Amino acid sequence: MAGYALADLQLPDGINPAPLAQNESCFPPSPKAIDAAAQAMTCAQFYPDPGQTDLRQSIASVHGLNIDNIVCGAGSMELISALTRCYAGPGLRVLTTQYGYAFFRTASIMAEAEIDFAPEVDFTVSVDTLLAAVQPTTNIIFVANPGNPTGTVIPRGELLRLRDGLDENVLLVIDEAYGEFNDSNEAPMFDLVERGNTVVLRTFSKAYSLAGMRMGWGLFPTEIVEQVTKILCLGSASVASLAAAAAAMLDQDYMKSCCADVAKRRDSFAKDLSKLGLTVPQSKTNFVLVGFRDEAEAVRTETHLRQRGVLTRGMGGYGLSHCIRITIGSAEEMDLTGQLIGEALGRFSELAI
Ligand SMILES: *Cc1c(COP(=O)(O)O)cnc(C)c1O
Repeated sequence: MAGYALADLQLPDGINPAPLAQNESCFPPSPKAIDAAAQAMTCAQFYPDPGQTDLRQSIASVHGLNIDNIVCGAGSMELISALTRCYAGPGLRVLTTQYGYAFFRTASIMAEAEIDFAPEVDFTVSVDTLLAAVQPTTNIIFVANPGNPTGTVIPRGELLRLRDGLDENVLLVIDEAYGEFNDSNEAPMFDLVERGNTVVLRTFSKAYSLAGMRMGWGLFPTEIVEQVTKILCLGSASVASLAAAAAAMLDQDYMKSCCADVAKRRDSFAKDLSKLGLTVPQSKTNFVLVGFRDEAEAVRTETHLRQRGVLTRGMGGYGLSHCIRITIGSAEEMDLTGQLIGEALGRFSELAI
């Protein structure tokens, strides 16, 4: 199998990087999370609590969920991989969408399952194409909402329609890695888990600025909790990660103010790019997918950005070689990025910065 393709982070010597390739937060973690991690280090001679009770309790209280249905992992990637190891395998199929997060494919191949992709419509997940692509041996469906790398959202009603249209034996995994950025004022999806065979995943890596601590979580039906906890390595999250995540979860004000700042900057950046004639699907995340006229223009722009220290993500791996994905960074980073894109397109004067 091909390895999971990480972003190319090579830079010319001596250039200060603007890391806009991996959807990391442009803010440091909550000061409360930093303090909690430092405090936890003072007892790091002991193994972590295998029940991860403090963290799960924080999540349960903030989101109003039953603690028994919350499972944490070393990043939601660990949870995705645990789900495919439990429920996919030789002779079974995993279904995701055309531009579905690339790790769904990697995790499925590691479990020796086959993977299928349902077409998206206008860079957006389509419930109709997903339902049409289900085969008798399809055992898991992964939908990222909001999507990565598209940034787009499908409404809650569409996810309910998807669950209703699926056989109850099919596991539906809704990956809400960017759920905290989705400000569409709809009720959260967690109640769908009660219908059975449905999992909702979240992460501390994006909105909570803790990518380096490797903590993800999800709401799981009781039967699935029992299965995945058998194969999760319960020692994979460190005491510092557990403590930082619990404190970050309890500091909702900090997280929400970071997300609001990002949203404002994202929307104005997207508007500037549209004025340059680029296509930017409406994003509800901390990144935008930028469509150029063709692959040559995308490559030229990505290279120009990289030479000036702005690292973005080429999208060839998703069959979108005319696009690049740009994480929303600081105000200065976005000003520089907009200016460099204008230069690369040779239309610098049209962008009013
Ligand atoms: C970033 C991301 C994740 C994962 O991350 P962890 O850092 O492992 O929690 C999961 N799903 C999607 C769609 C992502 O973009």
